[in-house]
Amino acid sequence: MSERVYVEDGTVAHELQFGESPNDRAAQALCGRTSWPGYWFGTGDQDEYDTAAAMPLCVACASVLRHRAGG
Ligand SMILES: [Zn+2]
Repeated sequence: MSERVYVEDGTVAHELQFGESPNDRAAQALCGRTSWPGYWFGTGDQDEYDTAAAMPLCVACASVLRHRAGG
């Protein structure tokens, strides 16, 4: 399962690469973005889950997800 994450002050959510930890600042999203120099948010507590869920998904991450789904 990928994890939906965002960076502080971000306007879109990203999906982390499979196996990447949201606690790792070098962890890459599907679009190649890392949270450096900040941290990924979205998996800490319910507020973060809700915030990530309410954000639109990064266009590049979304296209990778569609590609993987065979679309
Ligand atoms: Zn992305």
